[in-house]
Amino acid sequence: MASAEPRKVTIVGAGIVGMSCAVFLQRDGHDVTVVDRLGPGKGCSYGNAAGVALSEIVPISKPGLMATVPKWLLDPKGPLSIRPSYFPTVMPWLLRFMAAGRASRVSALAEAAACLSHRAREDFPMALRAIEAEDMMFCDFCAAIYDHEHEFRKAKWQWDLRAEHGFPYRKISGAEIHELEPDVSADAGCALIMDGWRNIKDPYALVTRMAERFQSDGGTLIGGDVRRVETTGRTVSSVHLADGSALLGDHLVIAAGAWSHRLARPLGSIVPLEADRGYNKTMPNTGISLKRQLVYESAGIAITPLPQGLRIGGAVEFAGVDAAPDYRRSDYLVDKAKRILPGLKDTSGEKWMGPRPGLPDFIPVISGSPHFGNLFYAFGHGHLGLTWGPTTGRLIADMISGRPGDVDMAPYRVDRF
Ligand SMILES: Cc1cc2nc3c(=O)[nH]c(=O)nc-3n(C[C@H](O)[C@H](O)[C@H](O)COP(=O)(O)OP(=O)(O)OC[C@H]3O[C@@H](n4cnc5c(N)ncnc54)[C@H](O)[C@@H]3O)c2cc1C
Repeated sequence: MASAEPRKVTIVGAGIVGMSCAVFLQRDGHDVTVVDRLGPGKGCSYGNAAGVALSEIVPISKPGLMATVPKWLLDPKGPLSIRPSYFPTVMPWLLRFMAAGRASRVSALAEAAACLSHRAREDFPMALRAIEAEDMMFCDFCAAIYDHEHEFRKAKWQWDLRAEHGFPYRKISGAEIHELEPDVSADAGCALIMDGWRNIKDPYALVTRMAERFQSDGGTLIGGDVRRVETTGRTVSSVHLADGSALLGDHLVIAAGAWSHRLARPLGSIVPLEADRGYNKTMPNTGISLKRQLVYESAGIAITPLPQGLRIGGAVEFAGVDAAPDYRRSDYLVDKAKRILPGLKDTSGEKWMGPRPGLPDFIPVISGSPHFGNLFYAFGHGHLGLTWGPTTGRLIADMISGRPGDVDMAPYRVDRF
């Protein structure tokens, strides 16, 4: 679908979000350059849980959550940790996060999330078709498992909220999930089945495939660290890299994941973006054979069978985007998974930490700049950047190509904070 007026577009960031923007902008006929200091898919998009988690529309901050936070923080192996020296820095973000969890806000935020998820049903396969990678996605159900029935009853309103927004679930017993997945403990309390769930075979391979196809179709990929963006009047005029070189173009898209706020701030948009650091471990020889992805709700972890092994991950750590990883967190997650997978062997494997680009209200920024007519933002996808990446790419391409979209973009604006 070629655009009427081909433009030169520069994108900062070659994660799933930046590469999705690149693929859809290129499809519109634009001349696209992507710049990344690590290389395609080497940021948070490298090792995620590979779930196209369309139904995960309930904001992380929600009524009742704060009551559990002190218990989590006191448990060194708990699902939430904050490095003591980082407390003062993250406090303002946490206050906004708590405010977003008020009952009065949760339903509007879930609606904004659901809107992206419904679009992703079409946009994700479209992105895969554009790079001829339909083979990278498969569809099955996903099972969310609770140790105890009462835990499900407490969370039932969240499942009902998903159903209200078009993402229904089926409840089955612990015995039934054990029958479907014999490696799951026979003692599981109950499981919620989400039909039509999609997974990517390997999230890093998806981004590298996008980058390869983008280049072979004429796109330019540059390894470089963007240090500064220059402006003239209400226009972004150039992008300056650490090596002293500069890029010029008609439009700039900032899709720099958990680092995006550093580029947005001097451009007049102050955004409360925080690195919501998640961990996992991928092991080739666990002795576990799962047919599909599981979410172990009682422990807050996702368990994903991938070609390279079983990936067990989750957790939230606040320590700053550039702090060294604490890989003990990966081990804690594996320990927890043993409760639901009693035969799990904790073997050697790859431990990983990814900085999720976290906004306190759970909704990404997909927006033009209020200050510069040729500047666009695509970041803050938190726990769902893989899921919503292609939709973000398509929405940004709509804006730059001047196509009227069918989505009310107000919830995703950069100046909503
Ligand atoms: C443990 C874990 C599990 C997850 N599971 C899922 C899941 O199952 N499903 C899902 O939808 N999401 C999941 N996520 C979230 C998802 O991985 C992220 O939301 C997504 O990867 C964010 O993509 P991004 O392109 O915005 O950022 P990134 O992938 O981090 O890309 C940003 C890029 O910008 C570059 N960059 C930054 N600043 C500059 C600069 N100044 N100059 C040049 N380059 C720059 C970086 O090098 C980086 O490559 C998970 C995350 C974690 C941590």
